[in-house]
Amino acid sequence: MQFIDLEAQYKHLKQRIDKRIFNVLTHGKYIMGPEVKELEERLADYVGVKHAITCANGTDALTLSLMALEVKEGDAIFCPTFTFFATAEVVAFAGATPVFVDSDVSTFNMCPVSLEKQIKRTIDEGKVKLKAIIAVDLFGLPANYPEITKVAKKYGLKIIEDAAQGFGGEIKNQRAGSFGDIATTSFFPAKPLGCYGDGGAVFTNNDDYAELIKSYRIHGKGLDKYDNVRIGLNSRLDTIQAAVLLEKLVDFPNELIARNDIAKKYEEVFSCYFNTPAVPFLFKSSWAQYTLYDSDSDSIRAVFHSNSIPTMKYYPTCLHEQTAFKYLNYAENDFPTAKLLSNQVFSLPISGYMSNENIEKILSSCILFD
Ligand SMILES: *Cc1c(COP(=O)(O)O)cnc(C)c1O
Repeated sequence: MQFIDLEAQYKHLKQRIDKRIFNVLTHGKYIMGPEVKELEERLADYVGVKHAITCANGTDALTLSLMALEVKEGDAIFCPTFTFFATAEVVAFAGATPVFVDSDVSTFNMCPVSLEKQIKRTIDEGKVKLKAIIAVDLFGLPANYPEITKVAKKYGLKIIEDAAQGFGGEIKNQRAGSFGDIATTSFFPAKPLGCYGDGGAVFTNNDDYAELIKSYRIHGKGLDKYDNVRIGLNSRLDTIQAAVLLEKLVDFPNELIARNDIAKKYEEVFSCYFNTPAVPFLFKSSWAQYTLYDSDSDSIRAVFHSNSIPTMKYYPTCLHEQTAFKYLNYAENDFPTAKLLSNQVFSLPISGYMSNENIEKILSSCILFD
């Protein structure tokens, strides 16, 4: 069994994907070809926003968002410490200061209470200016936007939704990618909607941000490609990746149903043994990962592995403990919940094309923990 079986998915969609790729090879518009525009229209439609702007990867999508918000040195950007490195990396890369926030123990997402605490601490210290929040839809579950938005309004902060793992999630029928002022996603192969290489996108309803991001992603272009009006990036989505994504997006709703079915079965069986992930009322997860935690996670993982069931540990090190962020001078125990999760979490295989045989094998392994 593989942790993520990308081959099974390709087999299922092979004819349509091959045809799409062949079309690109035939028309030869490898950069910003017609598939890119078509995909952007479909993505905006799916997410329910005015603008979807594709780019080279999910990290650049975040960087482009920070550029649109004019984030610079002296700005404080609040983000979770229990997430993938890129969420805070882009903040430091922009010259701004990441201010870490603890997690909620049941959803694994940013804790709104800890967020407000960190905002107040930052105001008291008076060293950096409040600017924005990057909330992460960790493991597929949208962050608590209803509460985070209240805090953001109270302190005049912008919100960026990092939906790299959240694409396909929902709160009250509103889709991930539409929360906050700007949202981003990643099409890295292992994400809920993945391509066959690197890719990303930015979503917004704000026309001004959209114009800026379209310029920044192509060397800060003006009306003409060789009229550069600002310093930007080279961050476009390849036409071939757009072609792949167009076909994958067609099947994505079915994949989500399959993932949710598996998650439901895991919950039924494993909640008797481990701490299973909570999905709050009216929230929907895209199940980028099915992540549980237990104080004995290392030996539990060993049992799974000895039965040929792969597991992964996302993420073993919180960002405030990463070597690259040592300069921020956090103490190991500043974020007790994030610390507990980073010690105890493990993820089980979940994907839209898992065989019933593999699902049954994982479910029946519960007897090993009786
Ligand atoms: C994967 C990921 C990113 C970065 O996406 P890339 O496409 O790999 O650059 C950013 N944030 C989160 C939460 C991620 O999981």
